[in-house]
Amino acid sequence: MTKVTEYLKNAKQTLFSFEILPPLKGESVHHLFDSIEPLMEFKPPFIDVTYHREEYVYKLRENGLLEKTVTRKRPGTVGICAAIMNRFKVDAVPHVICGGFTKEETENALIDLNFLGIDNVLLLRGDPIKSEPGFTSEPGGHRYATELLHQVAQLNQGKYLDGDMISPVPTNFCIGVAGYPEKHFEAPNLRIDLRYLKKKIEMGANYIVTQMFFDNQKFFDFVNKCREEGITVPIIPGLKPLTTRKQTTVLPRIFHIDIPDELADEVEKCKNDAEARKVGIEWSIQQSKELVAFGVPVLHYYSMGKSDNIKAIASALF
Ligand code: FAD
Repeated sequence: MTKVTEYLKNAKQTLFSFEILPPLKGESVHHLFDSIEPLMEFKPPFIDVTYHREEYVYKLRENGLLEKTVTRKRPGTVGICAAIMNRFKVDAVPHVICGGFTKEETENALIDLNFLGIDNVLLLRGDPIKSEPGFTSEPGGHRYATELLHQVAQLNQGKYLDGDMISPVPTNFCIGVAGYPEKHFEAPNLRIDLRYLKKKIEMGANYIVTQMFFDNQKFFDFVNKCREEGITVPIIPGLKPLTTRKQTTVLPRIFHIDIPDELADEVEKCKNDAEARKVGIEWSIQQSKELVAFGVPVLHYYSMGKSDNIKAIASALF
């Protein structure tokens, strides 16, 4: 399949793409297909599929005690990628995370992707387990995206964990990584965060996708700082349209990003979520237009499984 970097190189104008979540366990894949279908007219060259690690669920037993069980609520990233490619003839970019994987399991997952003809991956450390205060890796697993990147870069050179293989076939992964215009929340400052971002590029990452942001100036400053640091790879802005009133407080808490005054004021005036959704669409259209004028290679939307707002935005742009 085609690499994301090839799409970017050959693009004559800003491209459209989006990210989806695998369905919750027990849900039909057809709901997901129904949400992707209306967006295909905007010709996304690739669709990202998130990866969700396990969670702890506490179940009350008859004896009154709580039993801790481990479950993955959104399994199926690899299967969804294959299903999307098969149905929509579009490239799928699976997110591959450190959390919950040993190196051996990571290698096996990458082998599966390779066999499926998936040549793009977005490599991430991954979020912490929901009920845990911070990120923990599996014993012998990766602690940072850089470590995962090293493994994929090795595999791209035909170096598997078992060093004794005779003529192992190299993989051919195009590698994306995450960047944070408002800094990753654990980094002491943006300069140190950028140092690690640069390390990811030096280790073989081919492009960056950013965390969501609502103030374009933060993105422009981030791109300029990256360029000053010698990071020359394409930087794809990630955009999330607001959909509910309470997101002006929830999103900063979860994603460590700011909501600009003007947007917060507009949402405050809304009487219900339907009005907030309209404000979110309008804000995202303006953001997108400005980003196109800045020359971004792709507008990448976090769809969160609902496509009507993304369709409204894309219709104004593409
Ligand atoms: P890293 O690059 O490993 O950085 C994590 C922190 O450690 C940063 O503060 C960095 O400055 C610091 N750091 C980096 N390398 C080193 C080092 N070698 N030594 C010391 N410090 C270091 N999460 C999911 O679980 N599933 C997903 O599908 C998913 N998709 C995402 C998509 C995008 C575009 C983005 C922006 C985020 C996504 N996330 C996802 C969230 C992401 O996993 C979290 O933000 C996570 O906390 C950090 O991931 P990272 O790859 O940026 O980590």
